[in-house]
Amino acid sequence: MSVRVRYAPSPTGLQHIGGVRTAVFNYFFARANGGSFILRIEDTDQERFHQEALDDLYETLEWLGIDWDEGPQKGGNHGPYVQSERFHLYKEYAQKLVDDGKAYYCYCTSQRLADLREEQQKSKSKYQGYDRHCQHLSVDEIAEYERQGIKPVIRLKVPLEGKTTFHDELMGDITRKNKDVSPDPVLLKSDGFPTYHLANVIDDHFMEITHIMRAQEWIPSGPLHILLYEAFGWEPPKYCHLPMVMGKDGQKLSKRHGSTAVHDFKAAGYLPEAILNYISLLGWSFDDKTEFFTKEELEKVFTLEKINKAPGVFDYKKLLWFNGQYIRQMSQEALRDAVLPFLISDEVVADPPTAEQEKIIGKMIPIIQERLKLLSDVSAMTRFLFQDIEAPTSDSLIPKKLDLAKTLAILVEGRILVEQMGDKDDEVLEAEYRDAAQRLEVKLGAILMPLRVAVTGSAISPPLFESIRLLGIEKTLARLDRVITQIKVEVE
Ligand code: GLU
Ligand code: ZN
Repeated sequence: MSVRVRYAPSPTGLQHIGGVRTAVFNYFFARANGGSFILRIEDTDQERFHQEALDDLYETLEWLGIDWDEGPQKGGNHGPYVQSERFHLYKEYAQKLVDDGKAYYCYCTSQRLADLREEQQKSKSKYQGYDRHCQHLSVDEIAEYERQGIKPVIRLKVPLEGKTTFHDELMGDITRKNKDVSPDPVLLKSDGFPTYHLANVIDDHFMEITHIMRAQEWIPSGPLHILLYEAFGWEPPKYCHLPMVMGKDGQKLSKRHGSTAVHDFKAAGYLPEAILNYISLLGWSFDDKTEFFTKEELEKVFTLEKINKAPGVFDYKKLLWFNGQYIRQMSQEALRDAVLPFLISDEVVADPPTAEQEKIIGKMIPIIQERLKLLSDVSAMTRFLFQDIEAPTSDSLIPKKLDLAKTLAILVEGRILVEQMGDKDDEVLEAEYRDAAQRLEVKLGAILMPLRVAVTGSAISPPLFESIRLLGIEKTLARLDRVITQIKVEVE
């Protein structure tokens, strides 16, 4: 029997790192086993459904290169793959359970249920939840409710005795007393909408899912799902609940830790390859040491056996470093293509760039490639090459512990060095600047810093000599002259 797995998101918000981790594990597991990866949209909660969330889902999966074999847009033999298009099935099978005596109609009004809840809370009753009032309605009572036009829900009969066990590939057997399983949960609402449990089980069955890999927060639903499979007389799939994704503080990853939407990582200039690789390590490892995997490699080596029980820790710093490593490995063309949208949207270059701008881009790529951690840093790092910078304030030019007069001396000295720069290489230049630093009795850094700010307008530009070469001696001198004149007025 070939592996069939699914990612079954509810489109209620932007795709979260944790959700996408689930998608990624299912995808790699399918690929590594020559199986099928199915995408199913669980949109039964119409109030929380958002079209933007659905768009974001497709965009995110496409950006990461996670393609599905069956699902919306692709079709397949087990469709439709959107739950709101499968309502007739849920109705039919809920009714079937009623006919088989495994489920029943409940006519309780929301008022009765609210009163019940209040009473249970007041009396601190050990028994919380639905009281199974409608399980034994007489034919007459049912007829009366129907006559009043009350639309019933359908509830599952959960046995009061016994236990239910489900086996999790990772956690082992998980057993729950049936009386602790939620008492007679609703399967089909009065408006004909299924609940998550009903739709999820029916779909996994008819889509012939072999393995369910999903977040650990679904473990509590496990016993109920098993009871549903039993009620239908179906064989449940294998389960593997995935380890939690946590922040470094051991708390479930949330907005408190930083961005969690994959969309935001994309906007911040992360590469899909880096994100995909990093996500695959959140709760899985190949050999506890190898960290870099291409998508193609993961499609071969991913196994369930190597999923960890321990939570995956999402380390923002590590991911940033990871991204930098991926940027270093890109071809120059690929990096050019990747940074271009940022340069355009930050209005550093025109859309499309002019021939002049293209020339600068071509020259700067090898230099920024060594330094970029995020693609989006490209604009702040290189804007000075394309545009005249605003004259830096005198204050921003003063190195630590020095004053404006000394800063002026440094800039004047630096101007001479720049004028004589020619095509000397970095080593020679550094020696010259060191000599100058000695003459001025300051540290090397105290010379480089004001020059760099004067020339590039920012402290995160490429190193000074590279910046000057990219900008050209002439423009550099003009920028230096400007600040020198400005400071002279202030010092005198
Ligand atoms: N729609 C559920 C979710 O959003 C699916 C859970 C499952 O995989 O069973 O997480
Ligand atoms: Zn009832």
